[in-house]
Amino acid sequence: MGKATGFLEFDRLLPQKEAVENRKQNYQEFVQTYSDEQLNNQAARCMNCGIPFCHSGCPLGNVIPEFNDAVYDGKWEEAYNILSSTNNFPEFTGRICPAPCESACVLGINKNPVAIEEIEKHIIEIAYKKGYVQPNKSNIKTGKKVAVVGAGPAGLAAAAQLNKAGHDVVVYERDDKVGGLLRYGIPDFKLDKSVIDRRVEVMQESGIEFRTNAEVGKNVPASELDQYDAVVLSGGSTIPRNLNIPGRELKGVHYAMEFLKQQNKRVGNSPIDTEEILATGRNVLVIGGGDTGSDCVGTSNRHGAKSVTQFELMPQPPQSRSAAMPWPTYPMLLKTTTSHEEGCQRHWSISTKEFLGDDKGNLRAAVIVDLEWETDALGRPTKFKEVEGSEREIPCELVNLAMGFLHPQFEGLIQQLGIAVDERGNVKASENSYQTTASKYFTAGDMRRGQSLVVWAISEGRECARKVDEFLMGSTVLESKEAVY
Ligand code: FAD
Repeated sequence: MGKATGFLEFDRLLPQKEAVENRKQNYQEFVQTYSDEQLNNQAARCMNCGIPFCHSGCPLGNVIPEFNDAVYDGKWEEAYNILSSTNNFPEFTGRICPAPCESACVLGINKNPVAIEEIEKHIIEIAYKKGYVQPNKSNIKTGKKVAVVGAGPAGLAAAAQLNKAGHDVVVYERDDKVGGLLRYGIPDFKLDKSVIDRRVEVMQESGIEFRTNAEVGKNVPASELDQYDAVVLSGGSTIPRNLNIPGRELKGVHYAMEFLKQQNKRVGNSPIDTEEILATGRNVLVIGGGDTGSDCVGTSNRHGAKSVTQFELMPQPPQSRSAAMPWPTYPMLLKTTTSHEEGCQRHWSISTKEFLGDDKGNLRAAVIVDLEWETDALGRPTKFKEVEGSEREIPCELVNLAMGFLHPQFEGLIQQLGIAVDERGNVKASENSYQTTASKYFTAGDMRRGQSLVVWAISEGRECARKVDEFLMGSTVLESKEAVY
C-alpha cells in the first residue's frame, strides 16, 4: 500500500476544466491534467481494501489498488502494465466511462471515492509519452484467419486480443473511419479523435488490417466471410427509438445521431453527404436524458443555439443518497454532465405530444404535458398519468430525439447470414460462449448486449476473443477477466 494515511490526508480532487465561455468556442477537450503532486496525492487516497470492490465494480476487472500503488510510487511502466493487462483502451475509458469502479469504491461510503478514472487516464497518457505503448506482435502465428465486422470499441478490443493470440485479423467498417460511436457518436470535446487514430496506428503496426467504407451485407457481400475460420460480429445497436407523434415529419425534427455524426464529421474533415443540421440561433429541444441527450446539449451550445432545453420522461432522480437510493447505487443519482454546466434547462416528468409546424413545413413548437408518477415501496417510479391542464406549447426550431436505441440493423448483414435475434432484437448468443446460432459466427458489444457502455463493449470484445480462440485452438492463451495481475 502506497500511503496508509492518504485517504485521511487528501480530499478527492478532479483536474481543472477550461472555463465554460472558453470551451464553448471550440470542440476540443477541456479537462486539464493533474500536477505530479496532485496525481500522487490522489493515488495515495486508495485504501488498498482487503476486498477491493472496485475490481468487481469494473466490467473489465481492472486491478485498481495495484495500479494506484504503482502510481503513488512513481513506477509508471508497472502502472501501465497492470492497467493494460485488463483494459486494451484506457485512453477511452479514462475519458468517458461513467466509472462504475468509483461507485463501488469503499472510500465512497464515508468520503468521496478515489478518482480512479482520472488516474487511469494519466497512466495511459504518461505511457504514450514515455513510449511504453508498443505494437503487440505475436510470436506465434496460428495460420487462422478471423474477420471482425464493426470497428467500435467491442470490435477493436476483439481484434486486438485475437491478434495477440496469433490469428490474422481483418476488421471491416462501413464508415470512412474506424471507431464506431467513439468516432461518430461521442463529441470531440469529450474524446478527441486523435486519441482513436493514435491507437489504430498501434493496432495496424501490430498487424491488424482495417478495411473502411466496407459494409458487410451491402457493398461487401456476406459471402466474403466464408473465407475466414471465425467471424466476430460487432456492428453495434444502431436503430434509434422513434417518437411517433403528429408532426414527426416536420423539417427540424431529427434523430440525435444524425445531428452528432454530422458534427463529428465536420470536426474530422470527413465528407458530409446529408442535409446540414445546425443549432445556430435556434431554440433547441433535446428529448431524452442520457449520454446521447447530453452530447446534443454540448454540441448545440457550441453551435451557438439561442436556447437549449432537455426533457426526460422519467422523474428527477434523487440528488443524494437515501434509504430509497443507498450506496452503491451512486450512478443512479442526479447526473450533471459537463455539457449541462454549459447551459441547458432540464425538465423531468415531461411527455411530448405533438410537433407543430409553420406553413412551409418547418418545426416551430412542441406540445408538452407534465406527468405524475406513482412509485413503489422503495420510491422507484412505476406508472405515470398526465397532469390535467398542464398541456402547453414551447417554441423550438430544432428537435433532437435521444431516446435510446432499439437493436442492431437487421437488413443486410444479419438477414444475409440468417442468424437469429433474441426477444429484444439483439443478435442471439449465449452469455458464456458469445457464439451466435451460426457456428463460426460470434458476437460482442451493443449488437449482443443492447445499448450499453464503452467499458462493457471492451469487456465483451475481450471475452468474445477468448471464446473465438478456444473455438479455433481448443484452448485459449488469452487472459480471463478473473485473472489477477
Ligand atoms: P459501436 O460503437 O456502435 O460500433 C459498431 C460499428 O459497427 C460502427 O462503426 C458501425 O458503423 C459498424 N457496422 C455496423 N454494421 C456494419 C456492417 N454490416 N459492416 C461493417 N461495419 C458495420 N458510453 C460510455 O461509456 N460513455 C459515454 O460517454 C457514452 N456516450 C455515448 C454518446 C452517444 C451519442 C452514444 C450513441 C452512445 C454513447 N455511449 C457511451 C455508449 C457507447 O458508445 C456504446 O455502448 C459503444 O460504443 C458500443 O460499442 P460497440 O463496439 O458495440 O458498437
